[in-house]
Amino acid sequence: MPDQVDIAAKLAEVRGRITAAAREAGRHPQDVALVAVSKTHPAAAIEAALAVGQSVFGENRVQEAQGKFPALKKAHPDLRLHLIGPLQTNKVTDALELFDVIETLDRPKLARALAKEAAKLGLAPDCYVQVNTGEESQKAGIAPGEADAFIAECRDLGLKVAGLMCIPPVEEAPALHFAFLREIAKRNDLAGLSMGMSGDYETAVQFGATLVRVGTGIFGARPAVT
Ligand SMILES: *Cc1c(COP(=O)(O)O)cnc(C)c1O
Repeated sequence: MPDQVDIAAKLAEVRGRITAAAREAGRHPQDVALVAVSKTHPAAAIEAALAVGQSVFGENRVQEAQGKFPALKKAHPDLRLHLIGPLQTNKVTDALELFDVIETLDRPKLARALAKEAAKLGLAPDCYVQVNTGEESQKAGIAPGEADAFIAECRDLGLKVAGLMCIPPVEEAPALHFAFLREIAKRNDLAGLSMGMSGDYETAVQFGATLVRVGTGIFGARPAVT
């Protein structure tokens, strides 16, 4: 595990590169939020990031996050946690109780469950509709051709749709996918774009990302199976 100094240095580097990419694209660096993806990493690593001002984190599994974040959120009330992995409908209540932002709203059944439970709990988290821009059969996300109707459906259900999220196919140029996601967002009047990971977040910023999700670039490599 990288030590505290290491995490602080890597965070500073990522922030610097986001700032430079934003300036180069004629954007305000403060319009790009960094989501530090802490999946598989222990609470100590998250504490190290918190110590140098990082307050937004991303986790892909509800159960893993439940083991780490309740205590961290108690100690750091400004901590914001994003769910960036697939959400099963039977985990919706747990997810709503822990996560501040749901980035993986990807199907009607989940939208209905989220809307119902959020109303019951009196919560209204920001949601991002995940779009399967590469139309990969093994990947989550609504098909691009169904995105407009799905976004409308989510809004009708009362969900706060803040933007769109995508994970481009590994073997393709991410820029095409980022541009495609931006187009879908634009025609649906959505300001938020969650795109870009350790390998391509500067490109994502160039294409308008408002959230970049960086794990390895901050916390180092994860165990092979995540
Ligand atoms: C793990 C993960 C990331 C971070 O990936 P890195 O390459 O480690 O930066 C970003 N987004 C999602 C959806 C992830 O699952």
